[in-house]
Amino acid sequence: MTRRLGSGKLVIATHNAGKLKEIGALLQPYGLDCISAGALGLPEPAETGTTFVENALIKARAAAEASGLPALADDSGLSVAALGGRPGVYTADWAERQWFEGEPGRDWFMAMGKVEGMLAAMGLETPRDCFFSCTLAIAWPDGEYAIYEGRAEGTLTWPPRGTMGFGYDPVFVPRGMERTFAELDPAEKHRISHRADAFARLVAEQFGS
Ligand code: IMP
Repeated sequence: MTRRLGSGKLVIATHNAGKLKEIGALLQPYGLDCISAGALGLPEPAETGTTFVENALIKARAAAEASGLPALADDSGLSVAALGGRPGVYTADWAERQWFEGEPGRDWFMAMGKVEGMLAAMGLETPRDCFFSCTLAIAWPDGEYAIYEGRAEGTLTWPPRGTMGFGYDPVFVPRGMERTFAELDPAEKHRISHRADAFARLVAEQFGS
């Protein structure tokens, strides 16, 4: 049987402010004492895995080992069908300016433009099927772990629309809707997002009866 978190301290192993905010909101009802890896001054490990599961585990294990507390990490990304699932596990890397222009720093508009440019070069108009995926890993300091995976299916739109959310939200239109993730209220996004789907699985197993 999977180990359960109970109601003690939990390290949120992310340095991404957007994710931290969403994860905090999703865990708020469960009475955990959440602390971020950034607030504890924990280093950010290199994401050297080739799958979402590997990278989520790298982050959760590093935080659990360094803090002596259970830790939760999320690895997520956008997979575009016509691009063979790319950027996928490299979603954040595609926003690194140095990958393309030699300058450090992240630029989400450039990343969205890169995906759009590749699709346009293929002559692909619509629909541009894609999905966001979210893999959650909980690691305990003794090495035990649990994995939960969720998805949000949708299509890509261009140009980007909306100012809420983060990352690729302005180009992602969830299936059955017309607005992008960046045009939805955070509460509305939380009901249908890949992170919400993964959290529903986590909550069912960790906090369900
Ligand atoms: P990582 O999980 O830290 O490797 O980062 C994955 C990247 O995927 C993030 O930096 C975001 O750009 C993108 N991403 C993941 N979830 C979302 C989301 O809910 N909206 C928009 N972009 C996302």
